[in-house]
Order: sequence, then structure tokens, then C-alpha cells
Amino acid sequence: MIIAIDGPAASGKSTTAKLIAEKLNFIYIDTGAMYRAVALYALKNNLDISNHKNLIKIINSITIRFERINNENHIFLNNIDVTSEIRLPEITKLSSNIATKKIIRDKMVEIQRLLAINQKIIMDGRDIGTVVFPNANYKFFLTASIETRALRRLNEQLTKGIVSNLEDIKNDLIWRDKNDSEREFSPLIKAEDAIEVDTSNMTIEEQVKYILKVLQGDIA
Ligand code: C5P
Repeated sequence: MIIAIDGPAASGKSTTAKLIAEKLNFIYIDTGAMYRAVALYALKNNLDISNHKNLIKIINSITIRFERINNENHIFLNNIDVTSEIRLPEITKLSSNIATKKIIRDKMVEIQRLLAINQKIIMDGRDIGTVVFPNANYKFFLTASIETRALRRLNEQLTKGIVSNLEDIKNDLIWRDKNDSEREFSPLIKAEDAIEVDTSNMTIEEQVKYILKVLQGDIA
């Protein structure tokens, strides 16, 4: 049983997916965290990602796994917990660039499909409904206005004690939307059969409630 949730950055995918997973007792997989972990590996090892040989080196040197610790999902890169480190701003940008590389995507998709075998999975990302699981049982595409998304990201960072500027966040999101949507392989795009949910004026509770209603067959 697979629920795919795609959409641009800060559209509320991960918070929604996490809560749905808890309610339905599904495993939640954040595929963005995987691309971030790959970017962290490249950065730490000083590997220029425009060199194809380096990309081969990366896919042959990394292991990525998830573990549940104190009710939170943690991601391990080569057995080291990198859950916090992958959220650094330089990783955000590099992850979007590394995600344009086909050889990296193929490796991530392979891992994502293995993770889902015999599991009840809710997976969020950019290409889950289009490429990773085109036959997913349910597909959602979350969107929100750029203003809403930038404000959400600002508040999220404030709660983590990171001081940021709304305009900078907005510009970063616009850059990432463009980079993710215009790439050649598995661009960010709504699957034809995905249900689009505009969360601009919805609270997290409303988003979760809406998706649960669809899953229960209350909304077609
Ligand atoms: O979801 P998150 O913002 O953490 O993802 C980081 C980056 O990873 C995205 O900007 C996107 O380029 C890439 N990504 C992707 N495909 C996915 C998930 C994330 O290309 N399934």
C-alpha cells in the first residue's frame, strides 16, 4: 500500500505525511532527505558534482538508511546520523543540483522501491507519483502560494533558532522550484492522476483531515 505525496518545497508535504503516517500506522519516508544526504557526502568529500566520475564514486560509496529514534525519523549516511546536518542552507541548494543527475536519481529510486517492499508506506518528494511509484494507491500533489510557503519556512527556522530573512527565503524557494521543475530527468510535475491540494489557506490539521477523508473514500 503506497501513498505518494509530491509538491514543491515548503508546501507542507513532510508535516502532513508524518501526521498521516502516525494516524494510519504507515512508515513515512522523506525522499528529500536522501538527496540531501547525497549532497552532504559530496560536500564533505569535496567532490565536484559536474564531474561524472565523482557521481559514480558517490553512488558506490554511500549507504542510506532510516531509523526511528524516540518517535522521530532519523537518516543515516554511511551509518552516521546526519538528520540535522542535512538541513543546512548550503545542502539545500546542492541537493537540488545533485538531484538533476540521472545516475544519482536512479540510485535513490532503487533504494526507495526497496524500502517499500511489503510495507505500508507514505513517501514524499517530487517524483513519487510520476516515477518512483506510478501505480501508487493514492497520489497527492500539494501546492501553496509562494508567500505562504516562504512564511512557513521562516517560522520553521525561527522555532529552530535560525534567524532568516523572508525575501531571501522567497528567492531560494523560487530558485529551487525552477531548478526542480525544469530539469531533464524526473522534473517536479503533478502526476495526471494525482489529487491536487492547494494548502495556501489550510492549517496542517485541515490538510491532514482532507487527505484522510480522501483515503477513507469520503471525497472522490
Ligand atoms: O524535500 P526537500 O526540500 O528536502 O528536497 C531537497 C531537494 O531534493 C529538492 O529541492 C529536490 O531537488 C530534490 N528531490 C528530488 N526528488 C525527490 C525528493 C527531493 O529531486 N523525490
